[in-house]
Amino acid sequence: MDVYEKVTTLGQAAALDCEGPPALTRAERKAQFIDQSRVYVTHPQRGKIPVLRTMQTSACERNCYYCPFQAGRDYRRVSFKPEELAATFDQMQRKRLVEGLFLSSGIVGGGVKAMDPMLDTVEILRRKYEYHGYIHLKIMPGAESAQIERAARLADRLSINLEGANEQRLLALAPKKDFWQELLPPLYWVRQNQHHLGPWVRPPSITTQFVVGPAGESDRELLATAHMLYREANLARAYYSPFNPIRGTVLENLPKTPLMREHRLYQADWLLRFYGFAVHELPFDEQGHLPLNLDPKLTWAKTHLSQRPTEINRASRAELLRIPGIGPKTTEAILAARRVGTLSNLQQLKQLGVQTGRAAPFILLNGKQTEYQLPLTGF
Ligand code: SF4
Repeated sequence: MDVYEKVTTLGQAAALDCEGPPALTRAERKAQFIDQSRVYVTHPQRGKIPVLRTMQTSACERNCYYCPFQAGRDYRRVSFKPEELAATFDQMQRKRLVEGLFLSSGIVGGGVKAMDPMLDTVEILRRKYEYHGYIHLKIMPGAESAQIERAARLADRLSINLEGANEQRLLALAPKKDFWQELLPPLYWVRQNQHHLGPWVRPPSITTQFVVGPAGESDRELLATAHMLYREANLARAYYSPFNPIRGTVLENLPKTPLMREHRLYQADWLLRFYGFAVHELPFDEQGHLPLNLDPKLTWAKTHLSQRPTEINRASRAELLRIPGIGPKTTEAILAARRVGTLSNLQQLKQLGVQTGRAAPFILLNGKQTEYQLPLTGF
């Protein structure tokens, strides 16, 4: 297997595609490599960029029930040596096929042993190939503190996937992963040890991911854990990955998680991060799930603002943020506009960027309900 086929296989693998590639000519493998190994990720400053999303090895001794690389599954495993992977990535980025690397790995011989070749790959890229672009490095469960520090010096972003919302949910997904010993501590490492990096090293951002659905967790459990990490560990992002069953895995017969659930989780996550909501304020049902048919902010507003609409000219920043159709930027625009005059009609709000169709049922302008009062159903 040449290096392009390896990259193609691992690129597919990292995207959790369960099938290996068919026998291909070298040219076809290259084409497939370009098509399938490149994925788009959100860069903290530059938005969507194409990256090579691959693995150091797809061999793994663990048995995470959702994962195509779980031990014992019939799959064509491949591994890269650090120099080989670094050189391949360097060629690709020089050809401008990718603008970043997202490196993960299976685990053989424990997390510490799995982490070393990943760190070596990235170190070669930084030192030998003088690559200064974007690198996202997965921290292996069980990695040592010294390895996390090395990773923090080399990468722009580190991720440690919790997979489950808590210890009990993780057990139903990945019984060989330890929530408290292996997964949580690295998430806190950067915040607690930033001083080790010194003033010249910009600390990497930290992210995590949950597998949504098969463990039976509620939305409340997922969002409570994410919110805790946003506050306590400076988590940059939580990703809610809807479960998609893969043939030959322990969970192959469970249903797919509806994409709308993922969408509602991200909407609620934004309310926690940027709109000042607390977890207990989100509109969960008795089972702890968000409604699928309405967005969570609108659902909250229908309960709390319908009978007590907010006066736009007097509302605080926090109160403005609660109104559907008004976000952080439009809140600032309203506050600025109020300093020079009174807001008295929807056209003024529209010019400030407010989605007036969503906001209108929940606001007063200069003491009056707005011209267009939309029905409170059917959003
Ligand atoms: S540790 Fe679990 S999730 Fe990671 S590659 Fe191995 S089986 Fe898959």
